[in-house]
Amino acid sequence: MADDNKPNQKTEFIPKRFMVISAHPDDNEFGVAGTVAKWTKHGSVGVYVLTTSGNGGTHDPAFTRETIGAHREEESLAAAKLCGVEIVEFLRYHDGEVMPTLELRKDYVRLIRKHKPEVVIAMDPTRLFIGTEYINHPDHRAVGWATMDAIAPVASMPLMYPELGEAHKVREVWVSAWEESLATTWVDITETLQQKKDALRCHKSQVGDDTVNEIEGWAWHAGKGLAPAETFRIMFLEKREAAVVKPADAQSF
Ligand SMILES: [Zn+2]
Repeated sequence: MADDNKPNQKTEFIPKRFMVISAHPDDNEFGVAGTVAKWTKHGSVGVYVLTTSGNGGTHDPAFTRETIGAHREEESLAAAKLCGVEIVEFLRYHDGEVMPTLELRKDYVRLIRKHKPEVVIAMDPTRLFIGTEYINHPDHRAVGWATMDAIAPVASMPLMYPELGEAHKVREVWVSAWEESLATTWVDITETLQQKKDALRCHKSQVGDDTVNEIEGWAWHAGKGLAPAETFRIMFLEKREAAVVKPADAQSF
């Protein structure tokens, strides 16, 4: 198995094509945009799948569900572009109502078969309690479950939903893992931290300067003070080609 699967490994792996499947318009910028920006900078082609358009996400009475959803889609597009992602697929499920249904699984299968990513970055369906102050959002958990169920094994099975496109096997699932006990790998985002912060700032309806500065602290915490980082648990569904892995870049904390 690849070196990246040992605990606490730094990786410089760059996939050719990747997809990020998330619940809300700003999830990618809070979680993984530093890695995304790094990958696209080095030639990778990425697609965002946003399951909801965050149409419950405001206290401002000037907005309706329709107008806040449309507004947040614009914010998402700007943030994606800033990180080098040109394609954003909006599924427009209602904010706060996502369940890991067969319908959602099929939506993900259709998009995986359409875009054929080598790597899917996913939300962790198993995370309920985060520290002692945050219970993970049900949409995040539902999206994580449906993502895993779409990838393993349905998207790769030609007899399952042939109407959704040609079967495609995702090689690796990178589960966004904020907690040390779950993470196996970290990505140094020194070169893209500013892009990540600028991308988060695109979500003007949601975040202010305090939040943007806070994610910089999270990134340094993830990198144990050595470098700003994002952490993942990588599931290797296909063995990585030896030539792609650069053992010299992999080092322990
Ligand atoms: Zn979210």
